[in-house]
Amino acid sequence: MAYTEKFAQLIEIFLRHKNGKLGMRSAAIAQFILESGRGSSELARLHNNFAGIKWRPEMSSVATKVTVDAPSETADFCHFDSIENFVEGYWRFLGRKPYKGWKDHADDSYRFIDFIGPIWASDENYPKKLKALIGEADGLISAHGVSHQTDGGDDHGNDGAPCCEGMVSDYFSSTLEWEKPTVQWDPSPFNWSRGGTEIDTIVMHYTTSRNLSGTVSWFKDSKNVHKTAAHYVIGRDGTIVQMVKDEDACTHGNSQNKRSIGIEHSAKTGDAMTAEQEEASAALVRWLVQEYEIKLERVIGHKCAPRSTSCPGDLFKKYGATSASDCNEVTTAIQRWLREKVFVQENLLVA
Ligand SMILES: [Zn+2]
Repeated sequence: MAYTEKFAQLIEIFLRHKNGKLGMRSAAIAQFILESGRGSSELARLHNNFAGIKWRPEMSSVATKVTVDAPSETADFCHFDSIENFVEGYWRFLGRKPYKGWKDHADDSYRFIDFIGPIWASDENYPKKLKALIGEADGLISAHGVSHQTDGGDDHGNDGAPCCEGMVSDYFSSTLEWEKPTVQWDPSPFNWSRGGTEIDTIVMHYTTSRNLSGTVSWFKDSKNVHKTAAHYVIGRDGTIVQMVKDEDACTHGNSQNKRSIGIEHSAKTGDAMTAEQEEASAALVRWLVQEYEIKLERVIGHKCAPRSTSCPGDLFKKYGATSASDCNEVTTAIQRWLREKVFVQENLLVA
């Protein structure tokens, strides 16, 4: 079999990673062989993406988004700056919600394939194709001189190493899965049905006032003739008040109401978010994006709803947009905020 030089490097880096000793490692390598054509695919050559890993917001700290015409489809994939980042990205991708439970199948390549195969690819023959490559993967592992670490094992590529169980739990102690931040529930009567429309958008607002309780009262006040409200209002001190259930719609974002979650931030014109408020807002957006699989470009400012308004004011002035900015400038600033603040974390993987 002919492998590219990069592919050979990948195997070495992958096996050197702590998780590279797991029983399912032959299955992962089989994925790399199949998805990258032994390193020859465009995704592998230009983007260090050896597993056809799709773009997801949770990948932001190890990857950037690139649109590629892959043989299967034109889609947004992950671009990795290095093979090391790809290997981290592979574990991170698996740590996402759709693969929850993979650790229960991490001791054996065949069981692992049966578990992740149907989620990873729509091709129903994908698991069969991977299993056919396990022998080749095992050969690559042996060639890298790590087979001596195995301890008996079985004919399914499971090396039976006693180390694995502990390693999986190490990994999972630091896996992705963002919790919903603590909120105070203070319901507004101004809500209505989404009529079956799915949530795919977050609209960011500012209240024009620093007074959280004033806004919360207004969203329940009979004098509020337009019956405006928001799902969440975040105070200057980082308190989050939820006023409308996510499953219901409310009037905050014009044409976007049915599909969106509205987040108000207490702030006067000229105010950026306070540190506490920014922390709370980031935690909330992180969880919403994960929960409803919202694309990052669908986190928008009220101006882009679209509406002639100063909203979201100067919340994002550290990121380059003020109340005088147009929708494009606000969008750029929010996307910068998402990359630099919301989805940047310390390395979540085991050391
Ligand atoms: Zn607004």
